[in-house]
Amino acid sequence: MTGMVYLVGAGPGDPRLLTLRGAELLQRADVVVHDRLVAEALLDLAPAGAERIDVGKAPDDTPIPQAEINRLLVERASTSGSVVRLKGGDPFVFGRGGEEALACAEAGIPVEIVPGVTSAVAAPGVAGIPLTHRGVASTVAFVTASVATGPANLSKVATAADTLVVLMAMRRLGDVCRSIVAAGRSPDEPAALVSSATTFEQRRVVATLGTLADDAEAAGVEPPATLVVGDVVALADAIVPSAARPSAGSGADAAPADLRLV
Ligand code: SAH
Repeated sequence: MTGMVYLVGAGPGDPRLLTLRGAELLQRADVVVHDRLVAEALLDLAPAGAERIDVGKAPDDTPIPQAEINRLLVERASTSGSVVRLKGGDPFVFGRGGEEALACAEAGIPVEIVPGVTSAVAAPGVAGIPLTHRGVASTVAFVTASVATGPANLSKVATAADTLVVLMAMRRLGDVCRSIVAAGRSPDEPAALVSSATTFEQRRVVATLGTLADDAEAAGVEPPATLVVGDVVALADAIVPSAARPSAGSGADAAPADLRLV
């Protein structure tokens, strides 16, 4: 039996931001291989008898090696049929989705890519920060601050785009802001941190590059969080005043975890 692997973007947090194609595939999955942060309500869409495999962390809390995840996808597709690989945000934005797709291709397993709402766009968005705005910003760069691949690229693009969106910056926010300033941006430039975007834990801290790290620490902001730098950040209060809670369609009657698809 040769099955198929679907690389599905789960969106930034609120399960209702999954695409309809993603929901359709989950509802007929034989196996769901998912990250740690993926909402429970999405896993509940899969048939009761589907196998669910959490590859976020191994039992001893060390990350499961990427090669092992790749091997698992190929093996389950070969033996079990329809495998949904459910990944946070979009599978091809800092998610190693490309590596998984390549591993499947090399093994002759067909793959479909189902894009998701990336937190790189959604986190600023729900906090009232448009990434482009006429007369203010017409270019955007997405960067990772991850130690493995980030810092060199950060200084390379720091002044190349009007708006900078930095992922995986939370754990070393002070260093990240300092290196952006060292690369040539003003410490007075507006900067914001948006954490747990589209969930009930959503927080937004708006400051400047020079003050954001201290302000975020004082506010007790926790990961996951997205950093946005640029003049567009100054629009935040005018667009979504004091955005402490998700505004994206979630009334008091609709908890993010409360998903029903028919
Ligand atoms: N593929 C994912 C990104 C994976 S990297 C996507 O497209 O969204 C993980 C980083 O994404 C985190 O370190 C954080 O910077 C960001 N992130 C993920 N979920 C987030 C959320 N709900 N709010 C803010 N940032 C988030």
